[in-house]
Amino acid sequence: MAYDYDLIVIGAGSGGVRAARMSAGHGAKVAVIEGDRPGGTCVIRGCVPKKLLMYGAAFSADAEDARGFGWNVEVEGHSWSNLIAAKNAELNRLEDIYRSLLKNAGAELIDGWAVVTGPNQVTVNEQELTAERILIAAGGAPQLLDVPGMAEHAITSNEALDLEIFPEEIVIYGSGYIALEFAGIFNGFGAKTHLVYRSDLPLRGFDADIRREIATALQGRGIILHPETTISAIADNDNGKQVSLSDGAVITAAQVMAATGRSPNTGGLGLAETGVEMGGRGEVVVDESSRTSVPSIYAVGDVTDRINLTPVAIAEGHAFADSTYGRINRVASHDNVASAVFSQPPIASVGLGEAEASEKYAGITVFESRFRAMKNTISGRAEMSYMKLIVETASDRVVGVHMMGPDSGEIMQGIAIAVKMGATKADFDGTIGIHPTAAEEFVTMRSPRS
Ligand code: NDP
Repeated sequence: MAYDYDLIVIGAGSGGVRAARMSAGHGAKVAVIEGDRPGGTCVIRGCVPKKLLMYGAAFSADAEDARGFGWNVEVEGHSWSNLIAAKNAELNRLEDIYRSLLKNAGAELIDGWAVVTGPNQVTVNEQELTAERILIAAGGAPQLLDVPGMAEHAITSNEALDLEIFPEEIVIYGSGYIALEFAGIFNGFGAKTHLVYRSDLPLRGFDADIRREIATALQGRGIILHPETTISAIADNDNGKQVSLSDGAVITAAQVMAATGRSPNTGGLGLAETGVEMGGRGEVVVDESSRTSVPSIYAVGDVTDRINLTPVAIAEGHAFADSTYGRINRVASHDNVASAVFSQPPIASVGLGEAEASEKYAGITVFESRFRAMKNTISGRAEMSYMKLIVETASDRVVGVHMMGPDSGEIMQGIAIAVKMGATKADFDGTIGIHPTAAEEFVTMRSPRS
């Protein structure tokens, strides 16, 4: 049977664009359907704008630190609107690059919202298109909790990146990646920042020591923590948003930001109606080759709710293209995926936390280092850095590495290669450090924690 295309990709985010480009490069006739801006969550509403704002926010602490080194620094305010304009100009540039990447690869970009109407059929702009295969790469979106006033009065990370007026006081709900990153951004630009979360410590799922360390560091930076607390209602009045907390307190703030998780963008896509198996959170269920229960339909990235990170979506999209059109059979590896939380200070990790490692292995040995970064001695900043190595005792293999401190994301990328290769503690010990750096601590930890 003749189809209009070999492949239709729904979603021009990181995973979809990589799959489309590589498939077209292998000779497939490809269309990509996108109703919003090419680039997707990471480029338009996530990683990129977030990190630009994070860089901007960090200058206030840099200015404080500079005084310890003899600089007479006076920060005379900040123009939020200038920053947002500069950020938007950069996003426009990146969006153009994404459009060119698709064009140069020979993939056709169609502007519109797609609905899957059959195993080989998609409707967009009231037009029916057919393809031998369909790849769902529609991403995810912030989810709002069912709390009175939340839907009407709370913003999400989408709006937080584009606020016209900088909020002098903000309540952030949640303590995951997004909550901590935005707390660092708003706090850095001078907002009185509250973090409200239901657990005892931020970042559930991370190593317990890292969670304790970051709670102390966030407080040290001036963020007001409200652990074991939920938001019971939000109302609007002349002074701002009135946020009622479960402990009875009421905060009046200029903005409330919900950072309580994200859910897959599958509503209205027509997948269940086409026979695609869906999971309980609305995610597309796939096998390790990213194939759904309908053999001609595949899915990659956040829409599958596996590991919701941009580089993972890219790896899944690339593996799909190589395996399907490039005759290079491979699957994307989901083992030992390193990640960073760009909080201030940042956190990065690869492998298992201590609790997971002790559950998995008969015996583990833990090495840790808690120190004041050299820059902080003269700057006078009391903040500590923390590093931790978790080793399977029997094999001497390093199975978990965690860090909180400056540049931890940059440091962890190299460590992740070693862990992925199965490096042992002896390999770490046999590596000469680069002096003076914080990273050298990872190769000089000699005594296990008692
Ligand atoms: P996370 O899953 O990291 O955090 C969600 C937060 O919402 C948690 O604190 C959670 O609390 C809280 N929460 C969820 N449900 C409720 C509830 N019913 N009542 C109260 N609190 C609730 O989600 P994010 O939105 O921060 O990020 C989504 C994903 O995006 C991340 O998991 C990550 O994969 C990705 N991401 C990665 C980034 C990076 O790589 N730097 C940056 C941003 C996002 P609890 O912990 O108690 O469950």
